[in-house]
Amino acid sequence: MNPHDTLTSIENRVRSCQLCALGEMRKNAVPGAGRSDADIMLIGEGPGYHEDEKGLPFVGAAGKLLDELLAGIGLNREDVYITNVLKCRPPGNRDPQPEEIDACRAYLDGQIELIDPRVIVTLGRFSMARWFPGVRISDIHGQPKRIGARMVVPMFHPAAALHQPKYRPLLHQDFKQLPGFIAQLQVEGGPEATAEQPPEQLSLL
Ligand code: URA
Repeated sequence: MNPHDTLTSIENRVRSCQLCALGEMRKNAVPGAGRSDADIMLIGEGPGYHEDEKGLPFVGAAGKLLDELLAGIGLNREDVYITNVLKCRPPGNRDPQPEEIDACRAYLDGQIELIDPRVIVTLGRFSMARWFPGVRISDIHGQPKRIGARMVVPMFHPAAALHQPKYRPLLHQDFKQLPGFIAQLQVEGGPEATAEQPPEQLSLL
C-alpha cells in the first residue's frame, strides 16, 4: 500500500483501474461502501449486473438479503463496510479467475489495513479461500478464526441462500453471533494484540 493511501484514494484508483481485462468490460467499478472505521467488514465475491450499473456493492437481490441479515443484529449498511474480492463484474457473472483476484488483491489489502475491522465476514468461497484455503463452507461456516486482534468468520454467500433456502436460517444464525464476537474482542483486545501478519512473516515465527 502506498503510505499516503486513504480509503478514498484506494476507491478512486479502483474506479480507473485497468490492471486486468475486466477493466475494459465494466460499466462501473465497485470499490466498496460504508464506514471507514467499521467494526465489521463484509467481503463478497464480485459485482453482478446491478452493482456494475450503480457502482455500489450488493444492491441486487443478494443485497436485499444482506440488509435483512444486518437488520437482524440491529445494523444497517452504513454501520459496516461492504466490499468484494473483485472490484469489477466478471462477464455473465462467471467465477473470478485467479489472475483477476491477484490483480485486485492490493486494493483489498489496503482496505483491510485502513479500516482495520475487528471482524471480517467472508461471504462465499472466493473471499473465504484467502483465510481458509481448501475447506468447504458447509463444514466451517460460522466458526471464527482468530488472526491477531481480529476474527475472520466464514459464511455462506447470500445469493446461495436465495437459490437454496436451507442456507437462509444458517446465515441468520451465523450473523446473530457477530455482536458476541465483537464484545469478546473488546474484552480481550488490548495494545498487546497483534495485527494480521502477512503469510511470509507467519512462516518465520
Ligand atoms: N454478489 C457479490 O459477491 N457481491 C456483490 O456486490 C453483489 C453480489
